[in-house]
Formats: sequence, structure tokens, C-alpha cells
Amino acid sequence: MIPVEDYLAKILEGVSPLPTVQTPLLDALGTVVAKDLEAQLAVPPFTNSAMDGFAVRFKDVRGTNPDHPTQLPVQEDLAAGVGGEHALKPGNAARIMTGAPLPAGADTVVKVEDTNIAPGPTDLPGTVTFYQVGNEGANVRAKGEDVNVGDMVIHAGEEVTPALISAAASVGYNELPVHARPRVAVISTGEELVAPGRELSGGQIPDSNSLLIAALAQTWGAEVVFRGRSGDSPEALAQVYDQAAEQADLIITSGGVSAGAFDVVKALGVEHGFEFTKVCMQPGKPQGHGHWETGGRRVKAINLPGNPVSVFVSFTLFVRPVLAAMAGRSEQLATTHAIAATGWKSARNRRQYAPVVARQTDRGLEITPTHVLAGKSHMVATLPRATGLALIPAETSFVDEGSSVAYIQL
Ligand code: AMP
Ligand code: MG
Repeated sequence: MIPVEDYLAKILEGVSPLPTVQTPLLDALGTVVAKDLEAQLAVPPFTNSAMDGFAVRFKDVRGTNPDHPTQLPVQEDLAAGVGGEHALKPGNAARIMTGAPLPAGADTVVKVEDTNIAPGPTDLPGTVTFYQVGNEGANVRAKGEDVNVGDMVIHAGEEVTPALISAAASVGYNELPVHARPRVAVISTGEELVAPGRELSGGQIPDSNSLLIAALAQTWGAEVVFRGRSGDSPEALAQVYDQAAEQADLIITSGGVSAGAFDVVKALGVEHGFEFTKVCMQPGKPQGHGHWETGGRRVKAINLPGNPVSVFVSFTLFVRPVLAAMAGRSEQLATTHAIAATGWKSARNRRQYAPVVARQTDRGLEITPTHVLAGKSHMVATLPRATGLALIPAETSFVDEGSSVAYIQL
């Protein structure tokens, strides 16, 4: 048996970020920026008003207070979006809306609430009386006060978040150079599998793994381009592999990797130079990986075991980091300390990853396995309750109630 960390290192060997593709902003959500980008526009792009109010020269309103109001003629209205050159005549005010360019000569905006003019839609008044003014420069947003043209605003390696998308748009971009989203193909294997919702005849079960894997892959930023099923014959599986490899960067299979007489993934994989190993963990001990070659393509493949909880755990430990590396980001599963709210049996000589429910109590973060059988790998119906995984060292064969346990929040 090899340790989890060693197997992960093996599976990550040779995995590098996918090529850069120019991607429309919204489609890039969740991907990773591949190149540094300079601002093509300043933010703000021109000096403008931060308030609905009146643009003035500060010297024309200096000293204004409720006991000494100031009255000025109003020369024009300036709405957000107005173009052209506008200059404020000395001794005048211009009514101005938030986001409208400040007219030449003006240096200060007095908000409408500090005047005799009613806020909201009203005709242009002939004069305005100010009761209060801020400091010189009040309520003015200066051109470039956030960033200037040429400033490096978006950096390679940053994840594309909603805020990054809006920043990119604001500095002049409508697409971003990002690492391509990993394209994933999913294959379920096993003669017993039928499509979900179908009536079962003897020995059959619904194929839940292909959905679990596809949904996890999407959750972690991949695009699922193929989902197929194969029985337990090598010919059928080879055919599905060929189809899967056509458009995918990564093929993920489930089932058929352990010691059964019909473990086709292993049998076929061994013929194609795949490696199958026992990893020192429960669930998810039997694992495999390799490359499927077809039509001049060589596509990485990861062979997960068949039991659904094993799939969930091994996806988290091995597939997520591979997807992250392909997407151009590095990923570490963070563990925190939790307290076992109940005792449970762990695996002897294997590290257990037990699906658990965590809740905050006055003792701290308390965790309980989603099922009394803890790390048993077929407990798929209770898996959705899990908020994370408890990581129990190989040396521990029983987790005592009240003991401190490493917890991975998912
Ligand atoms: P295997 O590794 O192929 O022997 O499968 C281990 C266990 O997982 C068996 O009980 C299978 O029936 C079950 N299993 C395998 N593939 C799936 C799947 N796609 N969906 C649900 N259960 C599966
Ligand atoms: Mg099977």
C-alpha cells in the first residue's frame, strides 16, 4: 500500500496548465488568468460627480452655512452620459448627476440635499441656494483615482471571480486570456448498472457514479464533455474509452479496479500500461491511472473504484488537484481541528476519510459520521448529509468520543 500523498504526487506527474484561450468575460468565471493585463482605461475614465447635486467652484461657495446661505445662477443640466465640452462659467452652478463628467472649471459638488432644490425629477431651476458645502473637492471622483491606464490590474494566476470580471470590463476588456477549462469525460463500468429512474431487474443498480463524478467535475470548474457507460467486457470498454478520448483532457472511470474476476478497467488498463495500486486509505483503496491513446491523442485517465463513497473521497483527494493543476491553480485541502461527538470504528492500518456532519457547539466544532458504519464505501444515500471528511490516522482503529480529529471542510 502506498501513502495518499505519494499516490497524489504520482498522479500529478506531468500535469500542467492547459493552453491559454481568449474567453468572453462571463464564460471565464472560475477559470484562472494566464497573463498579466494592464488597464486600457483609467478608473474612473474621466473626472465625474459622486453625487446628484450642483457642480461649483469652491471659491464661489466658500463659507456657506445654514446661517449664511449662498445663491448662484444655474447654467445647465449635466446628466450621466453627456458628451461634449462643458465649462462652468465663473459665479455659476451646473446641476449634475452622479457619474456625469465634471465641467471644466468646477472643482466641487454640493449634494442636492444641501440646497433649496427638491431631489428627484424637477425642471432646471434658474438659481440654487446652498445651505451647506463640503470641503474643496467634495463629491468629486478624479480621473484615474482607482487605476490609471497602464497600471497592472489583473495578474496571471488570479482566479476569475465576479469582481475580477467587473474590474476587467471597467479597464477596457471584453474577454480574458485564461487557462482552458478542463474537459472531462466520465465512464461508469459494470454490467449491473442501469440509467437512473429505470426499473431494476435482478442484480441491477442505478448508475449514480457517472452523475456524481460529472457533478463534482462541474463543481470544481471542469466542463463535462462526455458521459458513458460500459459493461464488463474489454472490447466494450475500449470503444467507450475511444469515444471519451475524442474531446477530453481527462477521462475519469469508476469501478472495475479491484480484485474481482470481471474487473475490466484493471484488465484493459494493464494491457495499456496503466498503473494500479493500493492506496493506504479507507474508503478508496484500489486506484489506477494512465493514458489512453487513440487517433494520435494521448489523454490522461484516472480510474476510481466503484463504490460511491470511495468515488466521492478519491475524487476529492486525487481528481480535484489534477483539475486544479490543469486549470492553472494549485490546491491544498485544508484541515481544521474538530471534536468527535460520538465514537466510531476506523480502519486498521489505513487512513480513514469518513464523511461527517459538523456543527458548532459550545465544545467547539463537533463532528458525527453520516452513517454508523463511518468509512464504509457504499453508503451513498446518507452521503449528502456530509459537510466534510474526518481524517483518521492509520494507527487509530477506534475514534474515541470527545477526541480531537482532523476535519476537511468540503
Ligand atoms: P467494482 O469496483 O466495479 O467492483 O464496484 C464496487 C461496487 O460499486 C459494486 O457494489 C458496484 O455495484 C458499485 N458500483 C460500481 N459502479 C457504480 C456506479 N456507476 N454507480 C453506482 N454504484 C456503482
Ligand atoms: Mg464492477
